[in-house]
Amino acid sequence: MAKTDKSENKAAARELAFGGVWQYAPSIEGTDHFTIQARHELFVGGEWVKPKTGEYLPTINPATESVLSEVAMAGAKDVDRAVAAAQQAFVGWRRLPAEQRARYVFRIARILLERAREFACLETLDNGKPIKETRDVDVPLAAQHFFHHAGWADKLDLLFPGQHPEPLGVIGQVIPWNFPLLMAAWKLAPALAAGNTVVLKPAESSPLTALRLAEVFQQAELPPGVVNIVTGDGRTGAALVRHPGLAKVAFTGSTEVGKEIQRAVAGRSVELTLELGGKAAHLVFEDAALDQAVEGVVRGIFFNQGHVCCAGSRLIVQESVHDLFVDKLRRRMQRIRVGDPMDKNTDMGAIHSAAQLARIVELVQSGVDEGAELFQPRCELPAKGFWFAPTMFTGVGQTHRICREEIFGPVLSVSTFRTPEEAVEKANNTSYGLSAGIWTDKGARILWLASRMKAGVVWNNTFNRFDAASPFGGFKESGFGREGGRQGMRAYVRLKGALSPG
Ligand code: NAD
Repeated sequence: MAKTDKSENKAAARELAFGGVWQYAPSIEGTDHFTIQARHELFVGGEWVKPKTGEYLPTINPATESVLSEVAMAGAKDVDRAVAAAQQAFVGWRRLPAEQRARYVFRIARILLERAREFACLETLDNGKPIKETRDVDVPLAAQHFFHHAGWADKLDLLFPGQHPEPLGVIGQVIPWNFPLLMAAWKLAPALAAGNTVVLKPAESSPLTALRLAEVFQQAELPPGVVNIVTGDGRTGAALVRHPGLAKVAFTGSTEVGKEIQRAVAGRSVELTLELGGKAAHLVFEDAALDQAVEGVVRGIFFNQGHVCCAGSRLIVQESVHDLFVDKLRRRMQRIRVGDPMDKNTDMGAIHSAAQLARIVELVQSGVDEGAELFQPRCELPAKGFWFAPTMFTGVGQTHRICREEIFGPVLSVSTFRTPEEAVEKANNTSYGLSAGIWTDKGARILWLASRMKAGVVWNNTFNRFDAASPFGGFKESGFGREGGRQGMRAYVRLKGALSPG
């Protein structure tokens, strides 16, 4: 559909190229600016270094398809150099008194919050997600993870009483494109607080906020080599996870790549945690507060364009309220504002990439072909960039691809249940097990259901709520290991029995 002149003017006013350097004005009226440099090198040993490959990859704004910058493509030799820098830094970092490590992590959190606006804008430009979300969710939550874990750094003995916690060594961390800054924070904060050093590999299509974090580390005077950032594609990730200098690999991404990484570390004395895909069930009972449940379901699937591992993509609603609930959902979906991610009123931004859009289109077509009923509200989508309207399928069968496969887009599939037993059976009828949601007025039913749901996180009368103190992670093909809270710290320490003569 045609892009409006108004949105074209806005986009043009906001992105101005000066001699190859992107300058960005966060609001047309605003006075503060920041720049995006034309080329980013690798961050190794506290310095920016050119890749030995001599290659660079472009990163684009998915809402406009314009190139924002190019980033270094790290090869095996670059990964070697980064691991060596992390090994060297580990010697001093692990010996640092824990309260001093805590101070560094705390300082990172504080600087991140001071630069919150810049990080929110950069994330929105590089990823396509609405500024409302980067401003209110991604950046504050990322800072919360650093604050939270700074608090644990000098209290590890209390976390693991009677055992002596030690850092593991150099951690290789590989993260996806859907929450670039937040996933970096989830991984870095516990690793650093526990005394490990890191080589981080951001996703190739959204590397800019992780690279800007390097500036925060420099500002916080984090010792060189404690965090190293190597950009590149899957080949860089593969070189990192295979590196013999690592003590642990922490991966967030697709189940397919997670399995590949499992094979790559098999037989080596390397610890592994995997945060993978999901296909969450969202159960709505007839006694639920239906209007609140509508809001929860909308947030559950359309937040971040549905590019969320724990998205509530399968709505399973009690048959007696199906028609009423679907009608309410249709009316609510008509009010979702899709468009310019930098507009603070936008609810749904751009699909992250052409490849992701193609996958969504293919799976939606399969839904139509397999006989489910499609609903999309009328909305004007910009002509340039990658866009997809909020979508709902009703009459979805358990064998339909849209019910079984992770779409990772703004597509909800709706089916029904009659009894709580049937609800549990349908909810668990998936190879994934990351999250689930329950909407009912009855506390006893929540407990009954939650104990039967095969999901690492079960939300009750809410959805997509995150907290650094709460462990997050999956069962089955959604991976293993937890991030956040005490369980998240456990993934970054080795425990020793420490007995003295009594
Ligand atoms: P992806 O698996 O394609 O890529 C993730 C990262 O792995 C990227 O940095 C990529 O460059 C790297 N990579 C690719 N091939 C590799 C290889 N062979 N060895 C090592 N690294 C390699 O995933 P994506 O498309 O970036 O992200 C979407 C997926 O991530 C979805 O399935 C989503 O559910 C999942 N995800 C899970 C969580 C969670 O906490 N469980 C959170 C966010 C996203």
